[in-house]
This record gives sequence, structure tokens and C-alpha cells, in this order.
Amino acid sequence: MKMSNMLVSTLREVPAEAEIDSHKLMLRAGMIRKMAAGVYNYMPIGLKVLKNVEDIVREEMNAAGAQEFLASALLPAELWQESGRWDVYGAELFRLKDRGSREFCLGPTHEEVFTDIARNEIKSYKQLPVNLYQIQTKYRDERRPRFGVMRSREFIMKDAYSFDKDQAGLDLSYDKMHDAYVKIFNRCGIDAKCVAADSGAIGGSNSAEFMVKSEVGEDDVVFCTCCDYAANIEKAPSTPDVAETEELKDMVKTETPNARTIEDLVKFFNTTEKKFAKTLIFNADGKIVAVMVRGDREVNEVKVSNALGGVVDLNMATAEEVFAATNAKVGFAGPVGIKVDALLVDEEVSKMFNFIVGANETGYHLENVNYGRDFEGTVGDFRNITIGEKCPECGGEVTIARGTEVGHIFKLGTKYSEAMNATFIDENGKNVPFVMGCYGIGVTRTMASIIEQHHDENGIVWPLSVAPYHVSVIPVNIKDEAQMEIANKLYNELRAMGVDAILDDRNERPGVKFKDSELIGIPMRVTVGKKITDGEVEFKLRDGEMEVIKIDSVLDTVKAQFEKQGVRL
Ligand code: ATP
Ligand code: MG
Repeated sequence: MKMSNMLVSTLREVPAEAEIDSHKLMLRAGMIRKMAAGVYNYMPIGLKVLKNVEDIVREEMNAAGAQEFLASALLPAELWQESGRWDVYGAELFRLKDRGSREFCLGPTHEEVFTDIARNEIKSYKQLPVNLYQIQTKYRDERRPRFGVMRSREFIMKDAYSFDKDQAGLDLSYDKMHDAYVKIFNRCGIDAKCVAADSGAIGGSNSAEFMVKSEVGEDDVVFCTCCDYAANIEKAPSTPDVAETEELKDMVKTETPNARTIEDLVKFFNTTEKKFAKTLIFNADGKIVAVMVRGDREVNEVKVSNALGGVVDLNMATAEEVFAATNAKVGFAGPVGIKVDALLVDEEVSKMFNFIVGANETGYHLENVNYGRDFEGTVGDFRNITIGEKCPECGGEVTIARGTEVGHIFKLGTKYSEAMNATFIDENGKNVPFVMGCYGIGVTRTMASIIEQHHDENGIVWPLSVAPYHVSVIPVNIKDEAQMEIANKLYNELRAMGVDAILDDRNERPGVKFKDSELIGIPMRVTVGKKITDGEVEFKLRDGEMEVIKIDSVLDTVKAQFEKQGVRL
């Protein structure tokens, strides 16, 4: 394409609305424009990258034996009522009514739709396995849309759903998707690690996320420093730090007038956080639940929710709810005599001696409290693992880093097929439910993640595999006929070779053209200037040094880059 015919929307200034590099650069390079919170338009350059990422996803999904499909984004409520999710999906679901007051939603994910297709179209085990995927727009009314297309309310997802006759089949389908994902992220030039993830109330080690390490990531990922273990913090089991044995002392009630926080209390009692057990109160789908962890620990809400059989809406209790449970103001809750629907006690707390808790009386705490003697509850793992704790696989030390989830693979089993009565006839002539898996990739989030991992102070540095254009041919002076002739010739020859080249024939200073080409992140630049009299042009990789090369070696130099980066021409 000739740039004089293109809509180039680069910005020199950093837009105030953007917090993270990829968002800033997508706006500055003219890839996206915002319409509303979490709603974006893709400008021509942004769309080109998006299509390149989609093509990689499509090629690898097809190679893994999946078949492309396209579902509607507008979904009737009945399907969601059948699976039971209409009532539990909550505020993230965009719901709407048609002119006849029939209820619909805009699909945030498509398990129901694909399960419906399978039950209508697949009759016999002979037709299995089947893996259907789509690359399609999803809608989620996120609580906090942010970071541009990283967390938006309309985004593009590749979602795939596998249907097998049994668990062994599902295991195979799942492994195929895992391998396809590794290839996809490699080809996109991003370093994404597969980590164990929480699979909700379904349980088991049935789910894994592909995480990109990133300081701006919204997930905490636990890594072992010795082995390959990696898991989302939601999932990583903690190991209780067992306190030294002490003789049990008599429980005492102590007045602690202005001390509410652990910090205040540590000062007041002149001890350490480890001597306290804090009691946090939650509203879990309307039930009041207290969770106890050691003073220096954090409650893991996913573990809590799973222990309660899969909670949809888990929120800190209000001051009124706390008062109803403890008969005290916030800050004085404790396990002794508390009135709650469930009391969950982190295993570590059950192994502590003579610890301090709230007294369920405003202004008081209890000292020398002991589990088993003074209170009882459901003991389990309810806290986040911390840096330096034991790896659950090898016992080595773990560390924690921030990450962004770009993909998710999940063994669903028969959760949806049973709920929606999606069955096939097996070898014995019996009707049995499909064994399902689902597999998502955030295509637009992947695009932003590539930028997070590939940029510098001048702009984006696209891997060749997804770059909006491969080569930018820049004549220094468009009024110089000889320069224009060579620039045009190179541009045409590159295109004839299958290289996506642009010719920057705009009437702009070379500095402006260089800046745009760097900001947009075009991997190769060929500058056609005065040196053509010696038969030479300048060649520069986006992240390399400038070289002077012969005009007739340009095509080979470009071709060599494709080979080097393993990208087909
Ligand atoms: P998150 O924890 O980030 O909200 P999720 O668990 O809700 O993600 P899934 O339901 O597994 O995500 O969706 C599959 C993929 O879709 C995710 O791996 C992610 O890449 C992408 N995705 C999810 N929500 C968004 C969003 N709001 N904007 C852009 N991409 C998203
Ligand atoms: Mg989400």
C-alpha cells in the first residue's frame, strides 16, 4: 500500500487515558480508538495485526483437527436457563429484550451454544471426537474495563469446544489443544507459560492457563525456583507453617480500646502478626461465612468459594452483617461464639497455640485461644501461598510474579452436557452425555500482550509473524525522480515476492516517516536516498543497526529475515 493513500493516525503525544505501554502504543500507532469505556474501534493498522494473529490461531487450530464454526453473538435466554447460568452469571452478562419482550444476552462465552449444536447434530459415538471453534466477538460488562483491549467489554476470542465419548478421549483432545496453544503463542512471538489453574467447583487438575509474565498483569502466578511447577495463586496449595508446641494457657479477655487492625494490635500486645488469627466475614451468595487465617496471611477467595461448593458472588460482609454475626463493630470478630452459617479455619490456624482473636465484643480481644478447645470449624487451605513457601511438587522454594492470562484450556467433563441433556448413542446403544472440553484464547488481549513484550522508547517492535506490514520503503525525497523510481521498483518487487510492503510516498520530512515507521513497529525499513548513485540503499531492522546495502541485494536481505524468524513468505 502507498502511504499517501492510507489513513495514518499516529499520535506524537501519549494519550492521558492510557496507563500501560501496550495501550499507549496502540493509541499512538493508530491501531485502536475508544468509543466508550472498554469499547474500541480497530483502525486499519490495528485490524491488520488482529487478522494476522487470527490467521495464526486459525492455522494451528485447523492443524490440530478442529473445525471452524461461527455462532451468533445474540443468544436467547432459554439456552442459558437450561444450563442454569442465566441466574448465576451476574452483572457481567449483557442482557437485553427484543420487541416482543423475549430475553436475550450478548454471549460472553459459548458453552451453551456449542452444547446445543452437539446435541442436535451428533447422534452416535461414530461421529466423535469433534472439536469446533470460532473466532468471534464476545461481550462482558466487566466491573473495571481497563488497559485498552487487555480488559475490554467487547473483545475477540477464539473459543473451541471438544466433544468426546469418554474421559480418555477428552484427555487427548485437551492435550492437542495444549500443544496447539504452545505453537500459537510461539508463532506470535510471546513467551506464555502454561500454569495450573483453578477449575472451580468441578475440581481436579482440569484446567490450565497460558500466562504472560507482566508487571501490569492482573493475576499472581506462583513459580517454583527449582522445578517446572507453575500455578495461578488461586490454585497453588499453601503449606501450613507449624508453630512450635506450647502448653495451652487459660483464655483471657483483654480490653483493646482503639486497636482494630493487625498493625494496631501488634503494637498493643507488643508481639508479631504471627500471634494473631484474623477472622474475615463474607457474604457468600447470601450466606454469612467467617474465614480465619493467620494475622500475616491473605484469604484466598477462590479456595473459600470452592470449599463452599462454588460461590457465585463472594463479597466482604457489610458493617450491619458483621454486627449481626459478632454483636460488635468491624475489627473485633473472632471464632468464639460467632453466629455464622459456616466457619472456615485455615489449617495453619488450627495448628497455632495460644493465639489472639477478636472477642466478638467492641473494644475487646481474646488471648490464649486454641483451636479444638475454644472453637471448631471446617479446617482446610483457605489462604494464598507466599514467596519462599514450599513448592507442592518438589518441595523447593516458590516465587510469585504478576501475569496476564492470554489463554485457558479446561476439561469440562459432563457439566454442560448433563445440564442440557446433550447425549449420543455409545457402543452399547446407550444414551450417554458428551465429555466436553473448552479452550479460549483472547485474540485482542494476545495482540496487546505481544506489544507489552515487544516495544522500546520509540514504539512497537512487531515480530515479523504478526506485523501490520513487513517492510517500509522510504524515499527520502519524493521530488527526486530517480529515488522514486527505485523506491517504486523495490516496493513492487517486494510485493510480487509476497512481502507486505508499504511505500511511504507522503510529502513529509524523512524524520517524520522514520518516526512513524518505528512507532507502528514495521520490522524492516529500506531508505532510498542519495546513495542510489552508488547503487546503494539503507537497510534497518526495527531493533537493529542501520546497514548500507546494494539495491540488488534488498530482496535477498528481506527474504533472509523471513527465514531467520521462521515466517513463511
Ligand atoms: P480474566 O480472569 O482475565 O477475567 P477469564 O477467566 O474471565 O479472564 P476466560 O473466560 O477464560 O477468561 O476467557 C478466555 C480468554 O478470553 C482469556 O484467557 C482472555 O485471554 C480473554 N479475555 C477474557 N476476558 C477478557 C476481556 N474482558 N477483554 C479481553 N480479553 C478477555
Ligand atoms: Mg473474567
